[in-house]
Amino acid sequence: QLDPQAVLDSVPTGLWIDGRSVPSESGATFEVFDPATEEPLISVADATVADAAHALDRAAAAADSWATTAPRERGEILRRAFQLLTERADDIALLMTLELGRALPDSRAETKYGTEFLRWFAEEAVRINGRFTHSPTGTGRILVSHAPVGPCLAITPWNFPLAMGTRKIAPALAAGNVMVVKPAHETPLTMLVLAETFAEAGLPPGVLSVLPTTASKEVGTAVITDDRIRKISFTGSTPVGRNLLAQAAERVQRTSMELGGNAPFIVFDDADVDAAVEGAFAAKMRNGGEACTAANRFLVQSSVAEEFTAKLTEKMSAVRLGAGYDDGVTLGPLVSAAQRDKVADAVETAIADGARVRLGGKVPEGRGFFYPATVLDQVDPYSTVTRGEIFGPVAVISTFDSENDAIAAANSTEYGLAAYFYSRDLERCMRVAERLESGMVGVNRGVISDAAAPFGGVKQSGIGREGGAEGIEEYLSVKYVALT
Ligand code: ADP
Repeated sequence: QLDPQAVLDSVPTGLWIDGRSVPSESGATFEVFDPATEEPLISVADATVADAAHALDRAAAAADSWATTAPRERGEILRRAFQLLTERADDIALLMTLELGRALPDSRAETKYGTEFLRWFAEEAVRINGRFTHSPTGTGRILVSHAPVGPCLAITPWNFPLAMGTRKIAPALAAGNVMVVKPAHETPLTMLVLAETFAEAGLPPGVLSVLPTTASKEVGTAVITDDRIRKISFTGSTPVGRNLLAQAAERVQRTSMELGGNAPFIVFDDADVDAAVEGAFAAKMRNGGEACTAANRFLVQSSVAEEFTAKLTEKMSAVRLGAGYDDGVTLGPLVSAAQRDKVADAVETAIADGARVRLGGKVPEGRGFFYPATVLDQVDPYSTVTRGEIFGPVAVISTFDSENDAIAAANSTEYGLAAYFYSRDLERCMRVAERLESGMVGVNRGVISDAAAPFGGVKQSGIGREGGAEGIEEYLSVKYVALT
């Protein structure tokens, strides 16, 4: 039985500093809204620059003892947090749907995905290896080890309130670092519950802080410009990422940047079209389209284009739009009026440029930031709508004639996060996977996220990887010790 009020009542609504929930020094709070009703859900403390300084002091005080805590013990705390979140999965899913809007099945999927990073990095904590060699000259020995990178700042977006936190926090903590997290003001609740869960799991005070704030820029800058911060991990838009990179340059801080995407989804004429439709639906509609890995442009070989489009349209038309927590709903509202308007503008632009509406395309009347499942075809693969991130339930379909044309169109973007394609020809699969300029490629798959795999982009989609064995390296610095 869903009990939204009980779930909201359980949220620690202060800032999370030094292992407890505390008010902001200014006493200020801000409201978190339900995107389905546009009504406030709850108020949380609004961190200021002074709160950031306080959090950093407490983090710095905890840094040494956490860095020297046995890796096994660090791993076991992560593992206990995994266990606690798994036991509370239903409540976490409901909480995410309340603050983010999206449908409960998507929130349940994220709960599973997001908690998996805790288990994965609990296991990685005890596998931080180095190496030992003799110098070729025979005059010395080379010992390579890894040290925690130092106090970290994580800035996370609203679209995956749990997973975007855990995939930074888990490797940072596993590697022996302390971390200050600034969640998006749209969705701070899940991160606060996560911090409390970590405390319950035995995480020492100061190791993890959470600073919800409406003053993102000021609080972000206050933390970044503190000499004690050695690493910045950001997931969000490319413009903000550029800005943070410039700020990090001032102090030569390490950075991981997970930025925007513009994923192509290619369907070749030798594909299993039904499987491609299933994959396309997942790649497009996971999280209501609010994912940086979402299929942003469909490129379909002309001979199968009508079959693919008709089948995808049929599948998209079966989506049930409504409040994310209502029974049977498979597509919730978008997170905010601003996001809904961005999606509506993208569709209007595409139509003005000649796209045909096969499904949806109109903002519904009434309250809530709803946008319907939409399919547009006859889209020019180089038109405006194919250049930006749509971030909504809108499938944009173009056609192509040759493999080279498909790859050229797919690569004609400054982004390079995810790409997908469907083909049953193994040689083509290898060739195309290699030619796509993308950090991640889904071959005959519409969902690629996996805690055990390195997530990240090339080109302006970012720097660094999260998850996999690579994910923990981002939080370690290499130390070479020369021996005689
Ligand atoms: P989105 O479009 O997903 O909201 P943003 O890049 O705007 O992407 O936001 C991602 C995260 O970055 C959020 O936590 C937001 O509050 C934060 N943010 C936005 N602008 C800044 C900034 N100038 N400095 C620090 N953090 C910022």
